[in-house]
Amino acid sequence: MSTADQYDAVIVGAGPNGLAAAITLARAGRSVLVIEAYDRVGGGIRSAELTLPGFVHDVCSAIHPLGVGSPFFRTLPLADYGLAWVHPPAPVAHPLWKGVSVMAERSVEATAERLGRDAAAYRRLMEPLVRRWDDLGAMILGPLLRVPRHPVLLARFGLPALLPATRLARTLFHDDRTHALFAGMAAHSMLPLDGWISASFGLVLSTLAHAVGWPMVRGGTQALADALAAYLRALGGEIRTGHTVRTLDELPPSRAVLLDLTPRQVLQIAGDRLPAGYRQALNRYRYGPGVFKIDFALSSPIPWQTPDTARAATVHLGGTLPEIAAAERAVWQGKHPERPYVIVVQQSLFDPTRAPAGQHTAWAYCHVPNGSTCDLSGVIEAQIERAAPGFRDTVLARHTLSPAAFEAYNANYVGGDINGGVQDLAQLVMRPTLRLNPYTTPVRGLYLCSSSTPPGGGVHGMSGHLAARTALRRMF
Ligand SMILES: Cc1cc2nc3c(=O)[nH]c(=O)nc-3n(C[C@H](O)[C@H](O)[C@H](O)COP(=O)(O)OP(=O)(O)OC[C@H]3O[C@@H](n4cnc5c(N)ncnc54)[C@H](O)[C@@H]3O)c2cc1C
Repeated sequence: MSTADQYDAVIVGAGPNGLAAAITLARAGRSVLVIEAYDRVGGGIRSAELTLPGFVHDVCSAIHPLGVGSPFFRTLPLADYGLAWVHPPAPVAHPLWKGVSVMAERSVEATAERLGRDAAAYRRLMEPLVRRWDDLGAMILGPLLRVPRHPVLLARFGLPALLPATRLARTLFHDDRTHALFAGMAAHSMLPLDGWISASFGLVLSTLAHAVGWPMVRGGTQALADALAAYLRALGGEIRTGHTVRTLDELPPSRAVLLDLTPRQVLQIAGDRLPAGYRQALNRYRYGPGVFKIDFALSSPIPWQTPDTARAATVHLGGTLPEIAAAERAVWQGKHPERPYVIVVQQSLFDPTRAPAGQHTAWAYCHVPNGSTCDLSGVIEAQIERAAPGFRDTVLARHTLSPAAFEAYNANYVGGDINGGVQDLAQLVMRPTLRLNPYTTPVRGLYLCSSSTPPGGGVHGMSGHLAARTALRRMF
């Protein structure tokens, strides 16, 4: 640090990636300041009493296979700062109509056992990936343009991962239940399921289900943000909340600036410093579908028709593979499907701190066209009601978040896009633009560290960690 510099690094945005970047720098002995627009740290990892007193809701992220499986988070002593993962007995339930459901269980074996004639194919696909998650995670949760450390493992994952989810499922499996299970996993991609690489999301999320589980955070996702912030402060890092950064000029002097922001805000805040070519490239960056979310306060657990569904925290609704694929395709065509793919999380079944005794919370969202202004509450509730007749009678209160509300809450959610930009093949390789090191910009000392850099959306902190490592190598 020169005498003119107040900090070694300033980080704009206290989402999981901003906090991960700050921790990585502080652990290397650097002085850091994090500036956050909202009055609390966390970005996509906050919780709040959105409905009634005593009901704790996860405002954004709820389920953390990527968090518990993150090669970076695993190195942090977050349990010492209050983080406890809560694992439901099964990661995912996928009710199909007429009382039939399919489950992703913790083990490959238990999952395969209920997949009938697809059991052997499921084992063959999943076992090698699950066994080697540590090596695989280290390779795929980062920039794709680099020499792989385990090329054979990467090929085993990468070849099927490149395919459309519909094609991979239909090539390997024959049973509608297995097709539906894989479609539910792959639809987290927010890509059309007949589009290239949509299978990769299904493969990663299924692998994580068996390798590390799909846990939630005890007390609410906010506890993860608070643990990251407390650890950062213990390392000497500073955090300033309630301050929206409008231009780089207002930041205290530092050798490095890391932006936990997506290209649109990067252009707003730093546009005048960026060369025209890079500005144009950021302007071409594409945002994807948004989400419409409802949080419920409930008088009792959701009355699922298939009792198994209550063993999982995460429930995928939307029916069969063709039904989910059609719904996700419609969203890409700017439509609002009547029966959308809905993700439901029922935290309070496994974490009693979320609701008053005997009462419950539920969290649900569906994908909508970017910037949609439609109210999807009725459509989401109808999807839940189909799998759980009587659900509506249990609702004590509800709170909705539209794409516009998400963007107002956190500028990174442009048009309600929760991934910081489309995650198709082009934008996974060039995230956010084509550069040898995607965390760098043409401006010396200015770095990007949000989910608009590799590996993309999700709560894993890897974008922040890898951006900070780049800054450490180049600036310090
Ligand atoms: C409804 C919803 C459900 C989700 N579910 C899951 C899930 O279950 N599991 C999962 O892994 N992921 C989930 N995600 C995605 C996950 O939350 C994001 O991918 C993740 O939070 C991205 O982290 P980030 O640090 O890149 O950005 P963010 O978390 O968006 O953090 C960016 C921070 O920067 C701040 N900021 C923005 N502009 C400025 C400015 N000008 N000045 C100062 N500060 C600024 C914002 O306030 C915010 O705090 C979900 C997201 C949403 C919205």
